[in-house]
Amino acid sequence: MSEINSKTTLKKDYTDKPHESVPCPLCDAQDDYELATVGYPGIPVRNVICKGCGLVRINPRMTKKGYDDFYMEDFFEYLNPYGRPHYVNTIEKTTDDTFKTEAEKYTIPFVIPYVKEGGKVLDIGAGFGQILYLLRKLKHVSIYGIEPDPYSRQVAKEKIGIELSADTIEEFLAKNTEKYDYIHLEQVFEHLLDPLVLLKGIANMLTPEGVLYIGVPGTYNYAVAPDRFFELAHTYGYTPATLRLFAEKAGLKIILVRDPMSTGLDVLMTHKDATYPEEKEERMVQGADWKDTKNRLLSRKRYFELRGRLKKIIVSIFGEKIKDRLKKFLPK
Ligand SMILES: [Zn+2]
Repeated sequence: MSEINSKTTLKKDYTDKPHESVPCPLCDAQDDYELATVGYPGIPVRNVICKGCGLVRINPRMTKKGYDDFYMEDFFEYLNPYGRPHYVNTIEKTTDDTFKTEAEKYTIPFVIPYVKEGGKVLDIGAGFGQILYLLRKLKHVSIYGIEPDPYSRQVAKEKIGIELSADTIEEFLAKNTEKYDYIHLEQVFEHLLDPLVLLKGIANMLTPEGVLYIGVPGTYNYAVAPDRFFELAHTYGYTPATLRLFAEKAGLKIILVRDPMSTGLDVLMTHKDATYPEEKEERMVQGADWKDTKNRLLSRKRYFELRGRLKKIIVSIFGEKIKDRLKKFLPK
């Protein structure tokens, strides 16, 4: 396995790649409000919010060819500061019964009551395969995972003994004829270029009472600065209200939202006519008012700008040495 850098060395900014204008996939509104023109890690990327429905998206954005090249050539270099080596070390411990991974602590407790014992499970963007490993262990399900990244597939195979398919979602949807009782979509939906078309395809793969998990960063109340929150790889930003609109357009309904105001947004969906009751109205309207979402994002921006200025003033008075101690009180 190749050595991984711990810091990004990404120098490109992708502004020279062909871009395209993207209409809102949820409503007919033509009017957007510009939220930010830069994203992590300092790359120019224009994020807007739709004045019709409150959906956050990059517009204009790189064409599919640009994104395909980005994922093939640069994505993991770009991702490294998010701690990829750390993840690999953690994954190795997935098979250790005395150790609880983040997946076991966070994702599994939310989804497990909805995973059918002995059912059929699909993980789209399975990463290192740890979710599949845990679901098989806990619910004796038959597992299938797709993961286009060769390095992740290699880790899944070598560290936890799970073989993943190299298909992209599009390739898999085009050939799959199976139905699944549970489909897992974690940190994937925010990367898609055409989320509605793919969600309709995914809905089609669910059994009549099948459950779909979607986990994305929560736009509505995210606790980091906008220039770190927005990023080239995140073509869309979701709130409970906009995920609900996606669900409705794909013939689905939301049956559970974990803490709608959280930094991470986790929802479970199923077919509109399945027997699970729909999530309560008041938990799904968060983010329905675009001005409210905009105001939250902009006030967060001002807050981080103020913190940045305060940091500079403190360093100018006490010198560079104070920086380490400041980290404790003013983390990123
Ligand atoms: Zn819209």
